Amino acid sequence: MKALLIGIVTGFIATAQASEPIKIVAAENFYGDVAEQIGANHVIVTSVLNNPDQDPHIFEASPSIISSLQSASMIIVNGAGYDAWMTKLIPESRKPDLLDVASLTHKSKGDNPHLWYDVDVISQTADEIALRLMAKDPDHKVEYAENRDRFQRTLQALKLHISTSAEKIRGLPVTASEPVFGYMAEALRLDMRNKAFQLAILNNAEPSVSDIIAFEDDLKRKKVRAFLYNSQVSSPTVSKLKALAEKNHIPTVGVSETEPANTKYQDWMTFQIDALIKALLQ
Ligand SMILES: [Zn+2]
Repeated sequence: MKALLIGIVTGFIATAQASEPIKIVAAENFYGDVAEQIGANHVIVTSVLNNPDQDPHIFEASPSIISSLQSASMIIVNGAGYDAWMTKLIPESRKPDLLDVASLTHKSKGDNPHLWYDVDVISQTADEIALRLMAKDPDHKVEYAENRDRFQRTLQALKLHISTSAEKIRGLPVTASEPVFGYMAEALRLDMRNKAFQLAILNNAEPSVSDIIAFEDDLKRKKVRAFLYNSQVSSPTVSKLKALAEKNHIPTVGVSETEPANTKYQDWMTFQIDALIKALLQ
């Protein structure tokens, strides 16, 4: 009898909440941003990683995140091992509402996990978010479709900017402390050097002596036109290389893992691309 009563009560609450905003928890703020641009005022988005001073690779979730996961209607994670700290916190009951971007875009552990630097990944994620919002809240279906289409048009403009930029900088040799910008560097047709070094830094491993020597040689002999570093992750090895780049007058360009405050994904990417082009063509 008691169980039946609870069933009726929760059933009633679920119906009453149908017009309430949809709660979305995103592991990283760039996915939260995409969800917000598509859901607009019909969603409430909480992004777990939203502080540019945090190092996402060594992040530990707090108890308040666990409770927000309990009540979320959609949970977005990057996947591919990048935010395993989040995936393991998701209760079994919430798994059907999980959107794993890596699985969606057929990426897996071992691939460069900085998937959001691939505009096509963001485009597919936006389509999926829109579909799920339409299914959860059919009353606002038209609005979600319009927001999605508008968002996709801005991504098309970004892709055009990338391909026009590639015409100016294609083939130029650059190096980076870690592969955060990897997919974008590929789209810009840059010649990315020292990939083995970057992989070691990504995996919190010590790069091999020969990889460090090769990196230093690139800087000393000015074989690269720019040095990209992750402004959110630091290590003594990387700081030393950055100083060496500066000493040899090689422009250094900071890129970030998470989205800076008060910006949009499209603007963030454009800003970083333009800073790099400026450094390369100076
Ligand atoms: Zn990273």
